[in-house]
Amino acid sequence: MARVTAYVVQFALLCTFLAAFASAQKVSGGPVPALPAATLQASAGSFDVNAAVDTYLRKMPPSERARSNSYFEGGYWLLLWDFLSTIAVMWILLRFRLSMHMRDLAERITRVRALQTALYWVQFILFVSVITFPLTVYEGYFREHKYGLLNQTFGPWVREQAIMLAVSMVLGGILIALLFGLVRRLGKNWWVWGAVVSILFLTFVSLIAPVYIFPLFNKYTKLQDARIKDPILSMARANGIPATDVYEFDASRQSNRVSANVSGFAGTLRISLNDNLLNRCTLPEIETTMGHEMGHYVLNHAYKGVVMFGVVVVIGFAFLNWFISFGLSRWGETWGIRGMTDVAALPLAAIGFSVYFFLLTPVTNTVTRTMEFEADMYGLNSARQPDGEANVDLMLGEYRKLDPGPVEEFVFFDHPSGRTRITAAMRWKAEHPETASPEELARPLF
Ligand SMILES: [Zn+2]
Repeated sequence: MARVTAYVVQFALLCTFLAAFASAQKVSGGPVPALPAATLQASAGSFDVNAAVDTYLRKMPPSERARSNSYFEGGYWLLLWDFLSTIAVMWILLRFRLSMHMRDLAERITRVRALQTALYWVQFILFVSVITFPLTVYEGYFREHKYGLLNQTFGPWVREQAIMLAVSMVLGGILIALLFGLVRRLGKNWWVWGAVVSILFLTFVSLIAPVYIFPLFNKYTKLQDARIKDPILSMARANGIPATDVYEFDASRQSNRVSANVSGFAGTLRISLNDNLLNRCTLPEIETTMGHEMGHYVLNHAYKGVVMFGVVVVIGFAFLNWFISFGLSRWGETWGIRGMTDVAALPLAAIGFSVYFFLLTPVTNTVTRTMEFEADMYGLNSARQPDGEANVDLMLGEYRKLDPGPVEEFVFFDHPSGRTRITAAMRWKAEHPETASPEELARPLF
């Protein structure tokens, strides 16, 4: 066992090294352009990048801008309320020994340890879902409607929540049973393998999700329109992506947000775009969006994400190990928890993980935001539609603050802001004046 543990520690060190390397690269090629305005102008003849950015930003009317800012900034507070409500609910489970009773019930029903753990999980997730339901309804239904971002009525919305609950009941049950199995077998060293198992499990889920989970919420059909399908497949071939079909999905049943993705691998590889993108966007806008998505694929962002997120998870599990030991040594008896191997300690683990990920928000956001910016650059280079790109960036500004301060963007943004993205597009356009599109520039969006 010692050799195995040493191997895992080496793997963790390697991950840390890779992440450090990746973030060092990021700093030197950072998303927010550091070039002074004079340089931008000098390199591009008469084209003024900053003026072009402002022209695009002005396409969004002030009322629309205010609505989007208010929606997005409200999201900062929701981070805090979600965090505090999780802590409160977990504390209730521990303090009133509800967690202990759930474990006792599971033990009365079956003698198989793994099943006991899964049965505990079912009670746990049901309790948490019910008690946080008012907050979920406010966040996911009323607030989205208030800002005009949800197309669903209450019935279908609740139905989707129920499907999500069922999915997390099954997948969460498997993961928790695996993790507590490890704790029982490995004792103090559980966290190293726990992190590895969690990473592998999350990777597996994200690979099967496009085929087995997403279709539970949306209908996927093959795109027939050759005027759109052919240019996309041509771009895919040119970029070495082995796709033979493009899929369309009916996201408009949930919202008007535009989105697309390239998902899966080998046999399950598919390019999908949503009907909002098809209905609201011109071909140049669709092409630049697909170029971005192909960038994620070609640049192996899914695998890089697993490595970087893996580092976060390994450190998180180490912290969790310490946090649970500390909590149980003080209050374990009061809460009726027998020790680390007892599944009734799960609410304590949830508190530890919430604290960790809450504090790490800027780190995890920066990991994804950096990759999103890379995909933007790939999209510009492959689709060569800087004006189309700027228009799509404005549409995304319907639900993401368009022009935040630099610290705000660093802390809260998991994608670059509209200003950052449009600046990149205009900087690219300045170097490729032949790609300018007066039609896209003049196209009204709001
Ligand atoms: Zn992206």
